[in-house]
Amino acid sequence: MLNMRYRNLCSTSFSFLLIPANVRLRRCFCFMIIDGKSIAQNLRSSLRIKVEEYKKHGMRVPTLRVILVGDNPASLSYVNGKLKAAAEIGIDSRLLHLSSDCSESELLLLIEKLNQNTDIDGILVQLPLPSHINEQKLLRSINPQKDVDGFHPENVAKLWLGESCIKPCTPLGILALLDNCNIEIEGKEAVIVGRSNIVGKPLAKMLLDRNATVTIAHSHTPNLHLVTSRADILITAVGSPHLITADYVKDNAVVIDVGISRLPDGHLTGDVDFEEVKNKVSYITPVPGGVGPLTIAMLMQNTIDCYMLHNNKNTYNL
Ligand code: NDP
Repeated sequence: MLNMRYRNLCSTSFSFLLIPANVRLRRCFCFMIIDGKSIAQNLRSSLRIKVEEYKKHGMRVPTLRVILVGDNPASLSYVNGKLKAAAEIGIDSRLLHLSSDCSESELLLLIEKLNQNTDIDGILVQLPLPSHINEQKLLRSINPQKDVDGFHPENVAKLWLGESCIKPCTPLGILALLDNCNIEIEGKEAVIVGRSNIVGKPLAKMLLDRNATVTIAHSHTPNLHLVTSRADILITAVGSPHLITADYVKDNAVVIDVGISRLPDGHLTGDVDFEEVKNKVSYITPVPGGVGPLTIAMLMQNTIDCYMLHNNKNTYNL
């Protein structure tokens, strides 16, 4: 469905006019910038229509509770983005903001209350947490059926076993971007740089499930450029500005940049040297405006999936 509804939100740039005529004869250098903002906006609009339908049928609206500990400005900004998206869709969302010195047991108690509350569909704990709180213990305390981030070990295990589950939002968003642009995954060589539990590892499984041949690279991968330049689909989730330059990328590859770093001048940038790499690829995501908006949209989708689960309708986002 996603495929059919959200296609064609990629903008084409023809850079062949900028290069010498003899080169133009050999290759058509044109690339598509994947417009994550528009794709996410369309997805959110369709979710809003769904929520309106629930209301029309006398059902309660989906509910999301976001727990934020402390005042980390980046976390606050992420949380606000999520709450804004939820409000736009009609999801009843609330921020539960605790001070940075709150205890682990206080947090566990709060999560337990939310777990018990049958009117709450989704619980999200904004990471990172202060160092005195055991992150894993906290994530494990969330009811897996309310785990909108898909980080609970039960959901992780189910993902790897190929069972229905709530899946992490960023990998889901990446697949939505690829599908939206009608980019074939089956049989393709996919290379992921970064092996975190929230992006690299789950994405590898999800691409395997779509019959890609998957390689995960990391900080100990020797000759990274030789590995990445094999990729038909290259996804980077590192957080190292401009790590990926043109010599890391195969001609006509699809490049998805998950990384977000703030430069000293305040601008956000990705892992990919966009200006250098864009002329070599078929598709590329910008930062900002690529993967980020989809991560939030998929969080909304997961919240609605959790809501449907509570209403005994299994509509996991497979
Ligand atoms: P982590 O820090 O958990 O993981 C980073 C990964 O990059 C690690 O696997 C690390 O390897 C690898 N790495 C570090 N340096 C190199 C290098 N020089 N060469 C190859 N691999 C390297 O990060 P996250 O996965 O949480 O996030 C990654 C980036 O994506 C960040 O910039 C984050 O802000 C962004 N992000 C963006 C999202 C979005 O919605 N757009 C969502 C989530 C994250 P090793 O394991 O060996 O240490």
